[in-house]
This record gives sequence, structure tokens and C-alpha cells, in this order.
Amino acid sequence: MENDYASHIVVLSAPSGTGKDTIAARLIQRDSRLELSCSATTRKKRGSEQEGVDYYFMSTEEFDGLVQKGGFIEFAQYGRNKYGTLKSDVMHRIDAGKTVILVIDVQGGASIRKMYPGALTVFILPPSAAELERRLRNRGTDSDEEISERIRIAENEMKCASEYDYTVINDDLDKAVGEVYNIIAKHCLNGG
Ligand code: ADP
Ligand code: 5GP
Repeated sequence: MENDYASHIVVLSAPSGTGKDTIAARLIQRDSRLELSCSATTRKKRGSEQEGVDYYFMSTEEFDGLVQKGGFIEFAQYGRNKYGTLKSDVMHRIDAGKTVILVIDVQGGASIRKMYPGALTVFILPPSAAELERRLRNRGTDSDEEISERIRIAENEMKCASEYDYTVINDDLDKAVGEVYNIIAKHCLNGG
């Protein structure tokens, strides 16, 4: 059973600011068989983010309650906040015939690899550290303090790239989206 689910799970990880959300959004536009999992987080909503679309935003108490009830496939602390993949959200989408993309950090990637060894894992790399910082600043969603913390976390995350099935460099966006799509199509969509 676990393996039936595994073949419809794709993990996409990358240091914050690399472009994984941008790539994931393009992937689901490109193929209606692909859907994004909606995670839960204790982080505050930013900019145009929507409840139930970008995240389920919740208090630490609510989050911990769900942990107790076994509501998460995996969860992790990232910076000062908690993030978790909701079991119900992922299973519901797979039961409906979709392949689900989990855009999660490297701790989440490791947990999924353990629980669903057949899941496809893809790590996106920035072209350079300088470009990563430029993208984080240009995005304009995080304070200077948060950007410094994300860059510090990025250095450690990068060391995990080799644990993933594939790595793709997000230099030219269209090219990176094409590469990730082809990988997913080959493994999860019967070739395309
Ligand atoms: P992540 O989800 O990895 O934190 P985002 O998808 O939010 O990253 O992208 C971070 C910023 O970089 C955004 O402003 C996005 O528009 C920009 N971006 C994404 N991919 C590219 C690219 N290939 N070239 C230049 N800018 C990019
Ligand atoms: P952000 O605050 O930029 O939305 O996300 C911060 C980090 O948490 C990113 O690396 C993002 O991929 C990761 N993340 C988002 N949802 C989850 C989740 O459900 N589980 C884990 N482990 N990481 C997540």
C-alpha cells in the first residue's frame, strides 16, 4: 500500500529563494495530473498567500495537536517555525488519481525517503550563492534578518543534494521547468 502511494509522490527541495515554488507552480499549470500538496505551518501569512492554497496557517498548539493525532506524514522545524505535510491532503489527492508534489525542506525530504522509498526526489540548485541572495532580496518577502537565516540554512541544505534522485540547476527558468517535468513524466506519468 505504502508503495502504491510512493509512486505518486514527488519531493521537490531547494534552498529558500532558489525558485522551487515558481517551478512547482509552472509544473501544475503544465499538466493537470500534477497537484501541489498544501502543507500546514505555524509561520505568519505573507503577501498574497491564501489559507488552504499556499498553506494551512495555524497556531503552534493546533500544529502540535495534529502531530499527536498522527495527522502528518512528516513535519520539521525550519528557522523559528514548524511545517508539516498533511496525511489527509496527500492521500486524498492520490486517491483522486493525481501525482502530488511536496515542496518541502531537506529534513522532510529525508523523512519521505524513509517512509516512501519509492518516491521520486528532485533537488533544485541555484546557479550561485550570490544569485540565491539576489533572488531572496528581489522577492521582497523576508526581512534582512530572515534572509540571513535562510542563507545560513541554505549552506547546510546544499550538502544534502546528493541524497536526492536528481539535481537540476535553476538558471534559465524555462529550461529548469522542462527538465523537472521530464523527470516526473518519466517516473510518475507513464513517460509523458
Ligand atoms: P523558493 O520557493 O525556492 O523559496 P521562489 O519560487 O519564491 O523560491 O523564487 C524566489 C525568487 O526568485 C522569486 O522572486 C522568483 O520569481 C525568482 N526566480 C525563480 N526562478 C528564477 C530564475 N530561473 N531566474 C531568475 N529569478 C528566478
Ligand atoms: P517558506 O517559509 O519559504 O514558505 O518555507 C520554508 C521552508 O519550509 C522551505 O524550504 C519549504 O519548502 C519548507 N516547507 C514547506 N512546507 C513544508 C512541509 O510540509 N514540510 C517540510 N519538512 N518543509 C516544508
